[in-house]
Amino acid sequence: MAEHSVDLFVIGGGSGGVRAARVAAGLGASVAIAEDRHWGGTCVNVGCVPKKLFVLASEFGESFADAAGFGWNVGQTGFDWGRLLSNKNKEIERLNGIYAKLLTDAGVTTLNAHARLYDAHTIEVGEDTWRAEHILIATGGEPVVPGIPGHEHIITSDQAFFIGQLPKRVVVVGGGYIAVEFAGIFAGLGVETHLLYRGDLFMRGFDEDLRTRLHDAMQARGVHLHMPCEIEGIERNDAGVLSCELTHGDAIETDLVMYAIGRRPRVQGLGLGSAGVQTDTQGAIEVDERYRTTAEHIYAVGDVTNRVNLTPVALAEGTLVAQQLYGSAPTPVDYEFIPTAVFSQPALATVGYTEAEARAKYADITIYESAFRPMRQTLTERTERAYMKLVVDSATDRVVGVHMLGPEAAEILQGFAVAVRAGATKALFDTTLGIHPSAAEEFVTMRTPRG
Ligand code: FAD
Ligand code: NDP
Repeated sequence: MAEHSVDLFVIGGGSGGVRAARVAAGLGASVAIAEDRHWGGTCVNVGCVPKKLFVLASEFGESFADAAGFGWNVGQTGFDWGRLLSNKNKEIERLNGIYAKLLTDAGVTTLNAHARLYDAHTIEVGEDTWRAEHILIATGGEPVVPGIPGHEHIITSDQAFFIGQLPKRVVVVGGGYIAVEFAGIFAGLGVETHLLYRGDLFMRGFDEDLRTRLHDAMQARGVHLHMPCEIEGIERNDAGVLSCELTHGDAIETDLVMYAIGRRPRVQGLGLGSAGVQTDTQGAIEVDERYRTTAEHIYAVGDVTNRVNLTPVALAEGTLVAQQLYGSAPTPVDYEFIPTAVFSQPALATVGYTEAEARAKYADITIYESAFRPMRQTLTERTERAYMKLVVDSATDRVVGVHMLGPEAAEILQGFAVAVRAGATKALFDTTLGIHPSAAEEFVTMRTPRG
């Protein structure tokens, strides 16, 4: 049993943990970090990165079909799931190596092991004990699985990234980011896809116009949407077919059931109690505005605090903790205007207030909107329309919400997020020249408010 000592010990080698460790080491601190699965955490291994690769893969079918209108004769096409999986795995392994190297190059001690708190300054890693002046918990989250009969047949996104065979039929349960993204992936790859959501309309929290338009677009693309709908139990017959018994009496037969009904903070077996770190009723570690937990010298960032569960947020929080401990006074993270995209098909991206939120917050608002057929579709049979919306505080003319559903929504919204944070007015949008011909220019050419 060896004893070691560092300035900062980080538990969790995902987005928040790796960033904090690197920045702290760069500022002169001695740092160790423990990761019990794979370097890079959820985002790199079972989140953003492989998800986006799958989305890209699933969009090719549409491109092949569109190509005909542009004069191309595309021959027989075919899709090889095994090849996609193996190429994806190779790319992720490459990224794992890069993450580990970034840490060691920065002088951080990396430990491929589970870590648990012994007390407020002591961490146990296998047989070894680490003493640290400061500890950062960045252990992320894990998918929630319901306790319904037959739950052993359910997979979550963690397994979806490794399924050996693409099913013919899939049932995806949930109505948030992961459910709609995976429904799009499966459908794009030719799988008969059913999406079941417990409420009337999925994507709660997003602008109503985006939600209804995404609903209609996914349905038109052939995804079977069931809302409201819940599964009571799942049975598997001898042929391996899964039967999902629905609460309203019907059943759906399928080959794969994937649940995406949220994630919970990963805190089990972490020893939080022995270090005096409190969690809320959902198991999320409670932190103040400086990411301090209820135990002095122990900090927490990212999904384990279950506030805004996005990679750029975990990165910003990890940076901030390191800077406030070892650097100069950092700029706080701005939680008001966090841009986000859902890589659904069509894609959705947003920054700022929804129309409903803005109505509740401001005395008077003005809405500008535009729906149009993207140019890429004009020589094809497709009739899907892109949609853009600006929410303006009438009193100040400030644009407080920018929303889009359509191709390249994430790429287009990133720049507008800067404008919204900078406090840009609608008048400034109006005097900004467009880039022509583009879809993005619609955001600076909307002149007539919605009646
Ligand atoms: P994580 O990245 O989860 O890292 C925590 C790490 O801690 C893990 O590697 C874990 O193994 C390790 N760990 C846990 N306990 C211990 C322990 N006791 N000892 C040692 N190690 C431990 N966000 C986006 O912004 N854009 C996206 O497109 C996006 N897509 C997503 C798609 C999916 C399917 C999922 C599940 C998430 C997605 N997210 C996306 C969310 C994003 O992945 C998370 O918000 C982000 O990874 C959180 O970072 P983190 O550092 O808090 O935790
Ligand atoms: P979300 O919180 O986004 O959505 C959970 C969904 O499951 C909601 O529709 C919710 O319904 C529903 N739900 C919750 N509990 C139950 C239940 N017991 N039975 C049936 N349905 C239920 O979680 P996800 O799992 O989709 O994703 C987790 C997080 O990861 C996201 O919130 C996001 O922060 C992050 N992420 C980000 C991505 C991105 O940036 N593109 C992509 C993927 C994930 P209701 O609305 O009614 O509560």
